[in-house]
Amino acid sequence: MCHFLLPALLALLTGVNAINFAWESVQLKDSDVGNFSVIAFGDKSKLSFLTSTPACKAFPGSSDWPIDAEWRQLNVSLGGVLLKPIPPAAVCYPGPNYDANKCSYLFQNATFTRFYINDPVTVLTAWPQGGTCYATPFPVGNCTQGGFPEYVVNASTVKHIQMAVNFARNKNLRLVIKNTGHDFVGRSTGAGSLSIWTHYLKSFEFLPEYDQGEYSDTAARVSAGLEAWEMYAYMDKYNITLVSPGGSTVGPYGGWMAGGGHSTIGSIYGLGSDQPLSLQVVTADGRYVTADPDTNEDLYYALRGGGPGTYGIVTSAIVKAYPPLYVSESVVTFVGGDFSMLNTSITNPSLGLNFTFTPPASTKSIETFFEGVNFYQYFGKKIVDNGGTAYSYISRTSNSSFSFTTNIETPGMTKEESFSFLQPLYKKLNDIGIPVNQSMPVTSLSWGSTRQGEGDSPGNSRFATRLFPYSNWEDGPDGTVFNNTMAAIRSTIEAGYTFHGIHIKPDEATAGYPGNSAVNPAFRTAIMHADLFDNTQLQGIAPALAKSTHVKLNDAMNLIRNATPDGGSYINEADVQEPNWQQSFFGDKYERLLEIKRDRDPWGLFWAATTVGSEEWEVRTADGLPTQNGKLCKVGSSA
Ligand SMILES: Cc1cc2nc3c(=O)[nH]c(=O)nc-3n(C[C@H](O)[C@H](O)[C@H](O)COP(=O)(O)OP(=O)(O)OC[C@H]3O[C@@H](n4cnc5c(N)ncnc54)[C@H](O)[C@@H]3O)c2cc1C
Repeated sequence: MCHFLLPALLALLTGVNAINFAWESVQLKDSDVGNFSVIAFGDKSKLSFLTSTPACKAFPGSSDWPIDAEWRQLNVSLGGVLLKPIPPAAVCYPGPNYDANKCSYLFQNATFTRFYINDPVTVLTAWPQGGTCYATPFPVGNCTQGGFPEYVVNASTVKHIQMAVNFARNKNLRLVIKNTGHDFVGRSTGAGSLSIWTHYLKSFEFLPEYDQGEYSDTAARVSAGLEAWEMYAYMDKYNITLVSPGGSTVGPYGGWMAGGGHSTIGSIYGLGSDQPLSLQVVTADGRYVTADPDTNEDLYYALRGGGPGTYGIVTSAIVKAYPPLYVSESVVTFVGGDFSMLNTSITNPSLGLNFTFTPPASTKSIETFFEGVNFYQYFGKKIVDNGGTAYSYISRTSNSSFSFTTNIETPGMTKEESFSFLQPLYKKLNDIGIPVNQSMPVTSLSWGSTRQGEGDSPGNSRFATRLFPYSNWEDGPDGTVFNNTMAAIRSTIEAGYTFHGIHIKPDEATAGYPGNSAVNPAFRTAIMHADLFDNTQLQGIAPALAKSTHVKLNDAMNLIRNATPDGGSYINEADVQEPNWQQSFFGDKYERLLEIKRDRDPWGLFWAATTVGSEEWEVRTADGLPTQNGKLCKVGSSA
């Protein structure tokens, strides 16, 4: 029997839809609209092909931008949660917001705290904002709002979200949804937008029994603003396992699940998008609905992996909960090439420094280094076939040297089992001349994060990714397909990119009940998700250089794409200029998702770069870079 708790009781008493948490019972009613008709619900039956919509979303200064009195009235209706934030680094620039102390705080303290993650506009990859207000002690020019939103609704009830959705739709505003701001390509920011900030929707409830269809087990109610480290804490508290991102401040039930969501236990329990048994959602017409296998099935399908910020705003979910799980972790590190410059002792009497460190295992031969890398990559098949995951980084460290390191996670194995499971990997590396030492894996039952969600600050570089098909490993370590794949990877590393491979196998079998989600089919047949990092820091570089740098990254990525024609790319960790992105991110599910998008959001309200249906709109930027710093207009319109 379903767990019968306070939220369900509240829902019955108040006559509203199913809810998970008390704040979800605070909902907008038709009678609340009164004479403020711009917060009225939408009715798609009133739209026809004759309905004309403006070529561009309203923008500050445009004739259709809401007047101040409307913003004030919206704020009153919202009970005062409408914010008009300035860029956090405005305090470093000449002008009315300049404040030397606050500016130095940004450099000395903010990066160790929750400052950026608690900021209503900051996104953790800076360049998509347009670089109009970087945090710097030596500012050049002025700070402008750029690609940051104009207004932010700091939502704490469903009603706040419904009002913001209705206001944006009725006033032709660009709408943005921001949770933690982790999106790498600016999907949680946008110039001239109204942003709905879900960050403080933080509630959790463990359900010791939960029945739905074939599912009869433990579960949990989770809200959209929770971060992974908060989920880890609940896992420890209730002695359960919840599939959650490795990035400890990522929002599991914001963008992570919506795009797929990988984790250290993805080869056992599937992806983030495989976890929700039901979802609570505000749709583009402003209504609040439940999506589960029997209700609003189209939404339930699309919201699980069909891309973030596209079909509605999730406020909470009921997700599967699993028994506690030991995860054993081993680290393998080695270097190759000329490391004669490597200093293994650091002495500086004036600073009181005098220590030496053990250098990593090394081989002088670059060929041997890559032979070791390739053997590791091949061993990845054994890791994922046994429920494990592995996170490697391979880089060129100089013209004649390379480094490799990996963390291998073997969930469910004791440390002794994990040790013997990994022995063949160490033995082979030793046999070919890479003297790695095997030590006992570290095993932990606790998921607790020691940094308590602190220490995020915006990064500023680009990367592209690929889901490598399992089939590329199936012709064996000496097979042509496997070796061509390895050759492509090696070329990109030799070209100076950092290759970050995550071995993971979240196939259909791991997904469990109820299956049939919109997640990228390339995830289901993958053996590895890998990022190719371009370490070029984009702050302050000329647009032409930013563009040519990207052309080179794309050329390198094409080597990998050509070696993996049956692969795809993970929308949440991808290049915003991914060629043929509809196929790469959604495969053969794209057409169905586009139908759902058009049916559920005929207004084109929810827009985010490279999400389903986004090709009908474009952000018009002055410098031609693919940032969010420009008006959002219909493609081909002359406005
Ligand atoms: C440091 C770091 C570590 C990461 N680690 C992992 C990892 O371990 N595994 C992994 O798979 N990915 C990881 N990612 C990528 C991550 O999954 C994506 O960036 C994801 O989109 C973040 O979602 P968010 O809600 O936290 O971020 P946001 O930037 O706030 O939102 C991302 C997208 O989701 C939409 N969205 C947010 N909330 C909602 C909502 N309630 N309803 C509908 N749409 C919503 C936003 O509009 C936006 O389009 C990592 C990213 C970073 C920067």
